[in-house]
Amino acid sequence: MKDITIEQLSLMLKSKGEDSELIRKKANSLTEKIFGRNIYLRGIIEFSNLCTKDCLYCGIRRSNKNLERYTIEKEEIKEIIKKSYIDGFRTVVLQSGEVPVYDRDLTEIIEYTKNNFDMAITLSVGERKRKVYYEWKRAGADRFLLRIETTNRKLFKRLHPDDDFDLRLKSLLTLKELGYETGTGVMIGLPGQTYEDLAKDILFFKLYDFDMLGVGPFIPHHQTPLKDEKVIDFETVLNFIALLRLVTINTNIPATTSMATLEKEGREKALNSGANVIMPNYTPQKYREKYLLYDNKICVKEDESSTLKITEEVVKRAGKKLVKERGDRREKLLTDIPIDL
Ligand code: SAH
Repeated sequence: MKDITIEQLSLMLKSKGEDSELIRKKANSLTEKIFGRNIYLRGIIEFSNLCTKDCLYCGIRRSNKNLERYTIEKEEIKEIIKKSYIDGFRTVVLQSGEVPVYDRDLTEIIEYTKNNFDMAITLSVGERKRKVYYEWKRAGADRFLLRIETTNRKLFKRLHPDDDFDLRLKSLLTLKELGYETGTGVMIGLPGQTYEDLAKDILFFKLYDFDMLGVGPFIPHHQTPLKDEKVIDFETVLNFIALLRLVTINTNIPATTSMATLEKEGREKALNSGANVIMPNYTPQKYREKYLLYDNKICVKEDESSTLKITEEVVKRAGKKLVKERGDRREKLLTDIPIDL
């Protein structure tokens, strides 16, 4: 897969039936060569739905006035983190909309966590100045997720009235430079996105050598301008995950909630197509229905106390083994494992 071209990737992304199965099988066997059957656990805590940005696809965009806004108080966030640690989580992902006002609280929460528990902290709170990223790193944050959303610049511009592609990329490179394990990703099936765009997304991830790749289908939200858009077929989503694995080899690739929203056993299928991480929702139930990025999000009625059990079942159904470890990115392999595609 070393010198694979955009054309070859686009063709493979379109695979259906047996062709698609073959690609996914190869991705799964490569995944098992690298990670065994281990699936790494991360809990997401959606601590605020306040957002100053107006991304066209997102249910918590600032123009959505039909939404009760919340921010979980910092002492409560600390309690949630403590509880997740007791449950056995060794990574938490703190996610929110984009508002810079809680930056100091976040520093305090990171310090608290690192002083008390042996666990990794991932932040997923959007773009900030280098100074702030630096402050959080110094406080002990380990990883950062910032999706590029699409590498098609025109499409990026159309979807993000408040953002600039080059600034987003610059933020990602700053995060890498500061020593964060850096994750990015895209939505699959955005209106106007082509197979060629998706192929280029995969090559972009490889080029910049990001550590984690969080991807998922675009799903319309009824209170956004994209409410009437279509969703992509799930096979393409699985092809995308499989090709991510085959091209980027040792990255961490999560099975995400949006996959289960689009397809009943979506996460199980993703875990058999190259994903090696599972990222369930660990937000207390009372906040969950206020953090709807898209319609029909799963697990909205459940509490964080059932998170682990549900996740264990998903992983078991996939024939894999849930491991409660930090799951840092694997050392680079000295040689790429040869795959005959
Ligand atoms: N404010 C943070 C976190 C964003 S929410 C940030 O900007 O990084 C996390 C991810 O949800 C987004 O990066 C986006 O890719 C995804 N998302 C938002 N709306 C979605 C939709 N309608 N369908 C699928 N995924 C969506």
